[in-house]
Amino acid sequence: MGRPHALVIPFPAQGHVRPLMELSHRLADRGFTVTFVNTEHVHERVTAALPENFSSDYGGRIRFATIPDGMDPGEDRCDFLKFTQVIHRATVRPLEELILKINAEEEEGIACVIADGMAGWLLPVAKKLGIRTAAFWPASAWFLAIVLEIPSLIEKGVIDQRGFPKDNEPITISDKIPAINPAHLCWLCLHDPQVQENSFKLKCITSHVLRDVDHIICNSFLELEAPVFEHAGNALPIGPLVSAAGRIGHQPFSFWQEDPSCLSWLDEQPSRSVVYVAFGSYTLMNRRQIHELARGLELSGLPFLWVSRPDLMGGSAPAYPDGFMDVVAGRGRLVGWSPQQEVLSHPSIACFVSHCGWNSTMEGLWNGVPMLCWPYFADQYQNQTYVVEVWRVGLELRRDREGIVETEEIVGKLKELLKDEGINKRVGDLKDKARKCVEEGGNSFKNFDDFICAIKEYE
Ligand code: UDP
Repeated sequence: MGRPHALVIPFPAQGHVRPLMELSHRLADRGFTVTFVNTEHVHERVTAALPENFSSDYGGRIRFATIPDGMDPGEDRCDFLKFTQVIHRATVRPLEELILKINAEEEEGIACVIADGMAGWLLPVAKKLGIRTAAFWPASAWFLAIVLEIPSLIEKGVIDQRGFPKDNEPITISDKIPAINPAHLCWLCLHDPQVQENSFKLKCITSHVLRDVDHIICNSFLELEAPVFEHAGNALPIGPLVSAAGRIGHQPFSFWQEDPSCLSWLDEQPSRSVVYVAFGSYTLMNRRQIHELARGLELSGLPFLWVSRPDLMGGSAPAYPDGFMDVVAGRGRLVGWSPQQEVLSHPSIACFVSHCGWNSTMEGLWNGVPMLCWPYFADQYQNQTYVVEVWRVGLELRRDREGIVETEEIVGKLKELLKDEGINKRVGDLKDKARKCVEEGGNSFKNFDDFICAIKEYE
């Protein structure tokens, strides 16, 4: 038997290509040939952000292929209205052609297609061609359980055909799983009614498709969401999938060029002293919000590292209050994009002000870092509920009537978080559990092993 060939397809967004690239490395470690399928736009971005002299095929470990995403080269991929309208149709046929081409040209045809569950509409392409299918779920299993439950929620009248809830009552899908505030349903946290509907349609497709895949693997771990994994029995946790720095060809996949200089700045800071502030790849803030945050960091008196993306304010560069650059020079650091996993593992980090993207949440737990939660959209509100109410490893930043998190709230919650011994202890316990899960003999380790064996056997 030759090397099994896996085709790995992320949803085209930062928080999706990153864990799927990590998964691809693990498949390569286990003897797979991996072809990683990005959209053309994503491929261009990540290639442009790689450091100079870096081999863009990771030293030959991973091959790349591209498919279109249905938008013109210069169009804004944060135009979710257009994006959610075109992405489905634009990708199906090119994927089929790609698979047929690989199978015609190569001795080892595709043994398995592993697609992001958020791009679930692509999996029937593989089914149709008789190829084994796996969905990779890059978010919480709780979110997955809700998506799988969509048909039953519609049938019971809990939500309507367009995904809108009947009332404001918390939605329960099982006695053992936390009830969800209907306002936190992922497809409703999207700032525009038409985008909400489009996103719900895509989730309905996913819900349907995932009932028919051969495997569902999830970037989570058993002890984090045990009741949910019991409920959604066919979803296997294999996480947390954090990058293994130091591996040959290691370079996480970033849409922006990382600024590694913050690591040497962190080296100079006292142990457990620095507030790390980062909001992932999509969060936008207005001028007032940026000012409140800047003042909050100033008045906290703590050293801070703030990832302020060049597009944090949308079209224009982030604007800071007068004098803020002096504060930064004295006690802080501003970067456009950080090597976040290395930052979070640095001993000088005290806490993480986070938008609660699932990857950031996993990375925070992996490093035992307490969190201040500042969700922006999608599943981030649901993740905040986990962090604050279920795992109790962080606090929520409350907003004023205009949706702004004010300076006093930031200063007060930072103080409260840093002196909360219970939170510190619980997040340390989860860190230990996360690490045990992926060690040899751990639950995620075993699940991944079983998954690999199943694909190889089928081949
Ligand atoms: N990230 C990074 N540098 C930064 C900010 C974020 O490398 O300055 C990475 C982070 O480690 C995570 C990903 O980008 O792996 C963001 O994914 P997440 O699910 O947290 O948020 P999203 O961007 O999807 O909202």
